[in-house]
Amino acid sequence: MRRGHFINGRERARNGECFEVLNPATRTVMGQAARGSDADIDRAVESARQAQPRWWNLSPGERERILLRCADHLETHSDSLIEPLLQESGSTLSKANFEAGYAPSLLRAAAGEARRLYGDTLPHDRPDRMSLVLREPIGVVGVISPFNAPLALLIKMVAFPLAAGNTVVAKPSEHTPLVAIQLAELLHEAGLPEGVFNVVTGFGSDCGERLVEHPHVGGIAFTGSTAVGSIIGAEATRRMKRVQLELGGKNPVIVLSDIDPHEAAAQVAVGAFFHGGQICMSGSRVIVESSIFEDFTDALVAEAEQLQLGGLRDPDTAYGPLICQDAINRVDGHVQEAVAEGAVLRTGGFVYDGWTYAPTVLVEPPLHSRVWREETFGPVVSVVAVPDIEVAIELANDTEYGLSAAVLSHDLIRGMHAARRLRSGAVHLGMHPFQSNTMAPVGGVGASGLGRSGGRYSVEHFTELKWISLAVGSPPAAEFE
Ligand code: NAD
Repeated sequence: MRRGHFINGRERARNGECFEVLNPATRTVMGQAARGSDADIDRAVESARQAQPRWWNLSPGERERILLRCADHLETHSDSLIEPLLQESGSTLSKANFEAGYAPSLLRAAAGEARRLYGDTLPHDRPDRMSLVLREPIGVVGVISPFNAPLALLIKMVAFPLAAGNTVVAKPSEHTPLVAIQLAELLHEAGLPEGVFNVVTGFGSDCGERLVEHPHVGGIAFTGSTAVGSIIGAEATRRMKRVQLELGGKNPVIVLSDIDPHEAAAQVAVGAFFHGGQICMSGSRVIVESSIFEDFTDALVAEAEQLQLGGLRDPDTAYGPLICQDAINRVDGHVQEAVAEGAVLRTGGFVYDGWTYAPTVLVEPPLHSRVWREETFGPVVSVVAVPDIEVAIELANDTEYGLSAAVLSHDLIRGMHAARRLRSGAVHLGMHPFQSNTMAPVGGVGASGLGRSGGRYSVEHFTELKWISLAVGSPPAAEFE
């Protein structure tokens, strides 16, 4: 399969310079994508710039109707999205189905926001003046997306800015360009006008940087690593662009003593091992009240050891490969280093096959170790014991990140006590920390990012407020006795 960029409603440069896309499950080439340059970004931005006033001038109801049609079309043609998800991102069938199902939900949630670009009227001290506040789109939004949920995260960063009347140029991860081109083609088939959504495939240094710098791009939505996000954030801010950064996490799960250890272990296993831990919100630091520590760890090891690895199309396969050899090196490096520093390896700690890493449980890694402090982004979970909830909260907050946290307990009072004190963009009670809701404000504090995405929060981020003042003449003077 060989694909070009998608610019102004058409696939372009299919036969130009390209790069190979690997299937991480077989480690063989599964396709080729056009290798974007600064000139391709310039072309895509110009197409988005031309289309933006026409898109904004459609009525909110028309934008809503088109986005709803896009959602229906994605649903009808979900197979054509599932295939690249399986092949280029190493998703299991259930993870690919989840993404293909979530994409229409996001579009529908966004469609409704087209009608809710509320402004304001303000009181004024002078009776002959009126003040109005209008909400308007930024213009062209640049979207840069990661490899791990290449459909769901891309459409999320695209759908809400579109609903608000912006147009978009997207640069997907170089690991997963083909699903992005397929998405653009489907949205266009469904009636999204030419130039409203453009995709340039390629590498950050070849074309991603140009998207951030481009003078006609008014805002950037970025999801990816903290290292890249901090560079993009600095550059975008230097150029006075609106920027939203959804970055990495090192998410804590606090397990309180009132919960059944087996129930807690089942939750922790889903939150830690889904998609091989290649999830920003995966719960990789588990902090357990000591009275149930032994039972909980035994149950977690049992959960990990019963996970089935293997064919991605087998509905019983828990997760597939990591995205590349570098990822395997990083994950195994974190594990072996922690073991050398004194962590107890309860299960896993080896490459299962190819780029698939075995589900791994480490107990009591040193608190300075990389596996405890840095984003491992693999199927590795570390567990430590604490005497009580206060120490648990302190340990959970002892991180530069703050994306998502979980408290596993049936005691709502203690759970809420922890939720309010956790320094985190989200806290989930009674559930693992990898949760989704199209309308929720997703985002982090500290090294986990800036701004919130989802529902009206995305719309607020990618619109500008305009104050309009009117001279309206004085109303009749009020008379009091
Ligand atoms: P990454 O930062 O390596 O790459 C993300 C995107 O940035 C890619 O499209 C890449 O090509 C592009 N890029 C790289 N250098 C660039 C540059 N100089 N200028 C412009 N673009 C550039 O991230 P990844 O490895 O694809 O994804 C994994 C990371 O994403 C993890 O850290 C994970 O936690 C994070 N993530 C966060 C969220 C969230 O919602 N907070 C969600 C998913 C993933």
